[in-house]
Amino acid sequence: MNPAEIENIRSQFPILAEKIYNKPLIYFDNAATTQKPQAVLDKINYGYKHLNANIHRGVHYLSQQATEAHEAARKFIAEYINASSSDEIIFTRGTTEAINLVAFSLGECTCQEGDEIVISAMEHHSNIVPWQMLCERKGLKLHIIPINEKGELLLDEYEKLLTERTKLVAVTHVSNVFGTVNPVKEIIATAHVKNIPVLIDGAQALPHLKIDVQDLDADFYVFSGHKVYAPTGIGVFYGKRAWLEKLPPYQGGGEMIQNVSFEKTTYNELPFKFEAGTPDYIGSTALAEALKYVQNIGIEKIADYEHELTEYATKRLLEIDGMRIIGTADHKSSVISFLVGEIHPYDIGMLLDKLGIAVRTGHHCAQPLIDQLGIPGTVRASFAFYNTKEEIDTFIEALKKVVAMLS
Ligand code: PLP
Repeated sequence: MNPAEIENIRSQFPILAEKIYNKPLIYFDNAATTQKPQAVLDKINYGYKHLNANIHRGVHYLSQQATEAHEAARKFIAEYINASSSDEIIFTRGTTEAINLVAFSLGECTCQEGDEIVISAMEHHSNIVPWQMLCERKGLKLHIIPINEKGELLLDEYEKLLTERTKLVAVTHVSNVFGTVNPVKEIIATAHVKNIPVLIDGAQALPHLKIDVQDLDADFYVFSGHKVYAPTGIGVFYGKRAWLEKLPPYQGGGEMIQNVSFEKTTYNELPFKFEAGTPDYIGSTALAEALKYVQNIGIEKIADYEHELTEYATKRLLEIDGMRIIGTADHKSSVISFLVGEIHPYDIGMLLDKLGIAVRTGHHCAQPLIDQLGIPGTVRASFAFYNTKEEIDTFIEALKKVVAMLS
């Protein structure tokens, strides 16, 4: 992308014009959440101003309009990730809720005491804890795919973990700590040889990569809207139809039923069977709008530009004495975790903040991984397509000052 294009894009994100402590905001915390373009903000505003009525079953005009908008969003999202039908798109609050849904429903459906779930060493807490809860509830065992020193999964070890008792493999597509892009297509194919279903946590992948769930052959693919320029509180659980038909509902309530009597309740058809309660019909339309925004720029173009930013930032970071990049996989997305000498990441983050630079510090909700690495956490800079090389230069100069102060 050329500078004029980036300037034009930046002008569409109002928050990027904010000043923090009287300094221009440099927002490098995109892996935690992304900023929202005006088109998405307008969509939310328009929804509440002109389309707000509870959806489905409403006979009145507004309800029908809101229902149409919500279902059109579902259809668009299905096409965006190449699901074979919009019935396979379930709206959730985000990645975390989607994983909890699978952990509950799959747990009820296929898991017995002594069965096994396989996850990896680089999972976010949201792809660890729901499985631990299932293990506790049903007496299952959790197996962990190990990693090498670059932050890549050891695929030979992975294959050895798959047994006739493995009920699911749940792996992140992109690590939020290392930025590693995992070979999920290969991981899925390996599990499928043994008829084991696979859930892919796409929270860090969808904003940066083209996702085709049919090409991946993922059984379940989940992501959060807020990490892809949409609002918080909306996300997607994609599941293959055959699985969605087999799994029992996760929560009970309105929307998910066909018929209720005190003697017996029958459940609604897909996708509503998994959507208890009033859905976030404004969030769904805003999510579709955000994905349209990404599509208009072009995901390949975004990936190329973010790659350029990541390479540039890595090269410049390595100018700093004592710099240690945590996660040096061959295939990385736009996340850079680092440490400098013995300086605590929190101190670096605090001082950068005073200079208007937002980075994240800590364990990044991946405490077992950070513990395994024997480090106190990392500083993490993560880029989006609205970031610039000039911002990286300012960040590097600020970091040099901070390091000099703290050394
Ligand atoms: N998985 C990964 C890899 C993440 O990075 C995150 C958030 O940082 C999540 C899951 C959880 O996403 P959410 O909090 O939106 O549910």
